[in-house]
Amino acid sequence: MITLDNPALLQQANFINGKWLSADSAPAKFAVTNPATDEIIGYVPSFGKATVDEVVTHADTAWQAFRRLTAKERADLLFRFRKQIMDNQHDLAKIITLEQGKPLTESLAEIQSSANTIEWFAEEVKRIYGETIPPHSHSKRLMTIKQPIGVTAAITPWNFPSSIVTRKCAPALAAGCAIVIKPAPETPFSAIALAYLSEQAGFPSGIFNVITGDEVELGKALCENKTVRMISFTGSTAVGRILLKQSADTIKKVTLELGGNAPFIVFDDADIDKAVSGTIACKFRNSGQTCISANRIIVDKSIYPEYLDKLSKAVATLKVGDGLSPDVQIGPLITHQSALRLQSLVEQAVDQGANLVTGGNILSGNFFAPTILTDTPPDIALTCDEIFGPVAPIMTFTDEAEAIAIANQTDLGLAGYFYSRNISRIYRVAEALETGMVGINTGSISTEVAPFGGIKQSGLGREGAKYGIDEYTEIKYLCIDVT
Ligand code: ADP
Repeated sequence: MITLDNPALLQQANFINGKWLSADSAPAKFAVTNPATDEIIGYVPSFGKATVDEVVTHADTAWQAFRRLTAKERADLLFRFRKQIMDNQHDLAKIITLEQGKPLTESLAEIQSSANTIEWFAEEVKRIYGETIPPHSHSKRLMTIKQPIGVTAAITPWNFPSSIVTRKCAPALAAGCAIVIKPAPETPFSAIALAYLSEQAGFPSGIFNVITGDEVELGKALCENKTVRMISFTGSTAVGRILLKQSADTIKKVTLELGGNAPFIVFDDADIDKAVSGTIACKFRNSGQTCISANRIIVDKSIYPEYLDKLSKAVATLKVGDGLSPDVQIGPLITHQSALRLQSLVEQAVDQGANLVTGGNILSGNFFAPTILTDTPPDIALTCDEIFGPVAPIMTFTDEAEAIAIANQTDLGLAGYFYSRNISRIYRVAEALETGMVGINTGSISTEVAPFGGIKQSGLGREGAKYGIDEYTEIKYLCIDVT
């Protein structure tokens, strides 16, 4: 077990209406384990619909006062929140690695990203502008104002247990909303630590809430509660679809960041060394457990031998182990079930014609060997599903049209990547890819200053950038008769 400089950050409790409700005093609780060792880290409460309804009622009251703060007052709170996060960054990073498994360096980068997101929205608070509109009649004056949408809910996944929470809470708080966060059961402690720091930063009671419990019951209760005016979800397309349907009766605003199936194309005019290091960053970060990970590597036949040779050498150097150990680059998968699923996907791919170059097996516990497959058919489970693991399936193409056709052969459209040094091709391919985000000569695209989100069945709405705050506001139109 690790020690924290500030042990108060690891609260075995929920934060509801400014009160800490401990796992031991809750009607039920569940354990959270370290995926590297399977040891229990601690317990969190298991609450149900009644607590959701209670927290939402409190949040609705709290929000009525919070919305009246000036932009500067809300910005100041967010800047204090950011400072709390940076002051505790090492402890927060340890909590991520402990519950999620990623290497400590990646956890620290995630905490920096959380702080950056809060800083970005602290700055954006002051720019929630309305407009004046040239009137249609001599007697009228028209304008718009933007107002907070109200009580919001966030349902978040385990792969980025801190930064995805901040992508939702930062714009919500900036806009003047209250938020109820339901983190993933695998990784609730990072969200709970953020709740603790929001309290230290001085947010009023009831504005920032974290609740844990049965995911199906809590999700349904949040969707069906009519006081919750907006729900923001990051996770699988299957669950996103359920939440969208459940939100229909209350006509909730829904923002969805769902699964991806990112194509990663390497053209014959690419800088191959750069493409290889981009593949490592894009495919193996967080052990491949990101929704924007390269899912299908599509390489021009003429440069394929050189690319494969260089990629194989780079993959052979990746160090797998407990994320708390120095120099580890690949941590465990989140659960043993994930490792078994991955092993089965690779075995099926080999049965269906793929060629296993390296890896393909569970090393021990939840650790999976970095894997490369070649000649991977484009229509098998491995290439049609989100892999969510350190497995790189490679396929080849002979011309640009074929590469684009393979890339777009999916219902998902989150991120896409390609490497080329031909400026005309760069524009052509960037425009042709059916994805919400395109990395060109880079495998790292995430930043709070740019809009994150997908098209097709990868989602609705955008997070981050100047657009992110719009999801948490309503436009109100005012029409004034001046006669
Ligand atoms: P993953 O496959 O990455 O775990 P999920 O979509 O299953 O992605 O989970 C993302 C989030 O959605 C988690 O917080 C999880 O608890 C929650 N969740 C899972 N199933 C449901 C459901 N039926 N209703 C509401 N939330 C759910």
